[in-house]
Amino acid sequence: MIPVNTPLLGGNEKKYLNECIDTGWISSEGPFVTRFENEFANYIGRNYGVAVANGSAALDIAIQALDLQVGDEVIMPTFTIISPAASIVRVGAIPVLVDSECDTWNMDVTQIEAKITQRTKAILVVHIYGLPVEMDAVLLIAKKYNLKIIEDAAELHGQTYKGKKCGTFGDISIFSFYPNKHITTGEGGMVLVDDKKLSERCKSLRNLCFMPHRRFVHEEIGWNYRMTNLQAALGVAQLEQIDKFVNRKREIGSLYNELLKNVKELEFPLASTDSAENIYWVYGLIVKESCPLSALEICAELGKTQIGTRPFFYPMHLQPVFRNKGWYLNETYPVAERMAEKGFYLPSGLGITDEEIKIVAKTLKEIIK
Ligand SMILES: *Cc1c(COP(=O)(O)O)cnc(C)c1O
Repeated sequence: MIPVNTPLLGGNEKKYLNECIDTGWISSEGPFVTRFENEFANYIGRNYGVAVANGSAALDIAIQALDLQVGDEVIMPTFTIISPAASIVRVGAIPVLVDSECDTWNMDVTQIEAKITQRTKAILVVHIYGLPVEMDAVLLIAKKYNLKIIEDAAELHGQTYKGKKCGTFGDISIFSFYPNKHITTGEGGMVLVDDKKLSERCKSLRNLCFMPHRRFVHEEIGWNYRMTNLQAALGVAQLEQIDKFVNRKREIGSLYNELLKNVKELEFPLASTDSAENIYWVYGLIVKESCPLSALEICAELGKTQIGTRPFFYPMHLQPVFRNKGWYLNETYPVAERMAEKGFYLPSGLGITDEEIKIVAKTLKEIIK
């Protein structure tokens, strides 16, 4: 069996977890939490890190910390996981959507300006699958219209845009450490900011908004989104290996590119753009119209041989939960719709071996033939 993802836990993970157990520090009060926050913030190049329970929680905190209000509009890609849209909707704000670029699969930044209204407060960028969003354009628009930028970098730990790390561009950025991300804490996430006040606000929101001077008195509603010392211990150990992991991800992507390059029925991830080299968070493919099989059929066939796959994201404008509110009913985003219908990704977690990649590529070729 070749699962769609397996993590690599071969560094100091066990040692640091044992330290937690030996010292009795297992809650969020333990020392690995601040250590992981400092080391990850330092690695990305931001002043403050706030470790949280998962990436979706990090988005909730980011949206709340920027004081988005009922009726505010936030421009974001339709092609993404639901987490960013969910966080926007929960505060009563409205996700306003743009389509994707067909080659990078990222939000088409040339569509942003036409979506700006009096109510637009922020742009939420999501770096998709391995290449960064065209940030220069986003930064220009945000400046021109005085908009906040929230950067969802949950898929791009270690990726850069024109030499600068992803996760340093927004007013606030977030990462996830789910086991299929470049480094993992099992479940986990982080909010990164440069502003001290904002970091304190995020910390407060993570911890039920307890008042510093009088516990159990609250002026605002927060969450318990704390990360445990056990998770942070994994994070510290994983971060020690991140350069190796990022290189390995690029090797996995290159190997698939090489092995599959003659398959005319498939569209491949772009290896690079002017601003970055693909980091291949997942190795995604799009089935061309000339292919006799649909993406779903290919995934089903691969599944029969014990090879795990996932379909691409399903666009926000087609989500029943939003359409039932009457949203997006007359909107079409043809690039995202095609990606959702024809896209899937192959096993591409850090634990996969070259031998397994060769088996996957060979099986896929046989199925398409
Ligand atoms: C994984 C992911 C998230 C959510 O992270 P969780 O830790 O699973 O909650 C958010 N945004 C993007 C783009 C992701 O890929």
